[in-house]
Amino acid sequence: MAAVEGLMQDYELSLQHVLWRVERLHQKKEVVSKRDEGIHRTTYGEMVPRINRLAGVLKRIGVKPGDRVATLAWNNNRHLELYYAVPCMGAVLHTLNLRLFPQHLEFIINDAEDKVLFVDQSLLPLLKPLAGKIPSIQTMVLMGDGPATAMTAKENGLADFLDYETLLAAESESYPWPKLSERMAAAMCYTSGTTGNPKGVVYSHRSQFIHTMGVLQGDNLGLTENDALLPVVPMFHANSWGLPYAAGMAGSKVVFAGRFSADPKSIVELSQQEEVTFLAGVPTVWIGLAGYLKESGQSLPKVRTVVCGGSAIPQALMEAMDALGLRMLHAWGMTETSPLGSVARVSAGSKPADELKLRLTQGRVAPGVEIRISDPTSGEELPWDGVAFGEIQVRGPWIARAYHNGYDPDKLTEDGWFRTGDVAKISPDGYIQIVDRTKDVIKSGGEWISSVELENAVMAHPKIIEAAVIGLPHPKWDERPVVYAVARPEFKGNVTQEEIIEFLKDKVAKWWLPDEVRFIDEVPKTSVGKFDKKVLRANAVPIQEGVKEGVRK
Ligand code: ADP
Repeated sequence: MAAVEGLMQDYELSLQHVLWRVERLHQKKEVVSKRDEGIHRTTYGEMVPRINRLAGVLKRIGVKPGDRVATLAWNNNRHLELYYAVPCMGAVLHTLNLRLFPQHLEFIINDAEDKVLFVDQSLLPLLKPLAGKIPSIQTMVLMGDGPATAMTAKENGLADFLDYETLLAAESESYPWPKLSERMAAAMCYTSGTTGNPKGVVYSHRSQFIHTMGVLQGDNLGLTENDALLPVVPMFHANSWGLPYAAGMAGSKVVFAGRFSADPKSIVELSQQEEVTFLAGVPTVWIGLAGYLKESGQSLPKVRTVVCGGSAIPQALMEAMDALGLRMLHAWGMTETSPLGSVARVSAGSKPADELKLRLTQGRVAPGVEIRISDPTSGEELPWDGVAFGEIQVRGPWIARAYHNGYDPDKLTEDGWFRTGDVAKISPDGYIQIVDRTKDVIKSGGEWISSVELENAVMAHPKIIEAAVIGLPHPKWDERPVVYAVARPEFKGNVTQEEIIEFLKDKVAKWWLPDEVRFIDEVPKTSVGKFDKKVLRANAVPIQEGVKEGVRK
């Protein structure tokens, strides 16, 4: 029998639908931004005409469908306006990571061939070193709070700046949104380059739409209309984890911390004042926040969920947050997965004694995504037995199939699964436990040591606040683990290597015990706040002393 077609509408999945909901249903919802001069308040209702005007601006300055429009901006209301206007008028929103080195920014802007650049006034200094090096940029728009000063742009060899507010004021409050195809590119985000050169990931309208629906699911992040969201995760980090669009779709209030995102005091104040219920960010943010709350004796009783992803949550952190009444929700993903991949919810029927353990895993794969683990050498699929570990591979409607400009074509397996470079085991009921990144795993005497597990064990020591573990070359064992640890301020200078190794003895296998524990003032961080092991490796002195039987005496 011939296949019979369904009779449902061919409705193109696009971000215009999210904008439609924002306009029709969420007019009164507030968008609050912390700025240098104080709190800026607006509503979705006030924002929609501005989004329309902005689309008019884009058209006027010559932006055509498919053109890349870059942003160099903090989390704030104007950045949110760009999140809507750019893709909904058919162009591609390219969020630049403001913590990158100039040469990375230069590479990325040129690789994406950005045509227009919107920049927050406070970030202008970042552009200075790029003068004369980003020829694709035809127009720069300055998002400042005072009158446009034209900024000595010419002297710096940059294109002239136009002023955001002046441009908006000259346009109409309505915009004839074009009909879009769901396969069109909507946004672009570069991997932050923790393990290599940044590569461009290009999201489509369809992938963004479905990802938004996925993020909102109760068993995923579960953001709702009742929530007030404060995304500490920058709007340039992996699509801000899909939260800006999820908030628009659901109608959540949004609170932005602007350039104060790294300051726990500001996050706490804003959360209290704005009755924030939903926070999201990487573990290092929460390490700082937990410390600040403990010290200051403050609390955040309204917060119901603290989404944490980007790297594994150390057990000590989750326990500290639990003690503060802050429930962490562990999620795993990457820029290439839009980024939601998995979420650690405790499944029905789990024993209470297992709860913490389950919440510390990377959780179960999100509905919409399929996952498998593969043997790194044979490529064969491995069982979900909680023991075998291999590379995580995923596929689904919001998973990348290629990078911009065709870099790294081998990221896709022959049968179409995306190779994540993360190594994990999966339990029979589907809980993912990331062992390491392929590039961070320590190969000692033919066996693997998980740098992640070792780090977490060290961070459970009461005198330690941060720890990163790397493998350093060893003549006999190939590589051996070396710990870089940061003492809590009150224990600085008062903690020894021996103490740490002693502490680890009943927590990890004997041959996992580090050869050295090196105390440093701070673990270097990547541009998105993860421990930067590349920097540690580059500056590491070789292992100092002899090793007996692979285990330091
Ligand atoms: P970058 O690759 O530059 O770090 P991403 O933010 O895209 O930028 O990083 C994705 C990677 O971060 C994943 O491949 C994984 O290694 C790590 N990661 C993300 N979430 C978690 C998590 N919950 N636990 C452990 N690792 C994580």
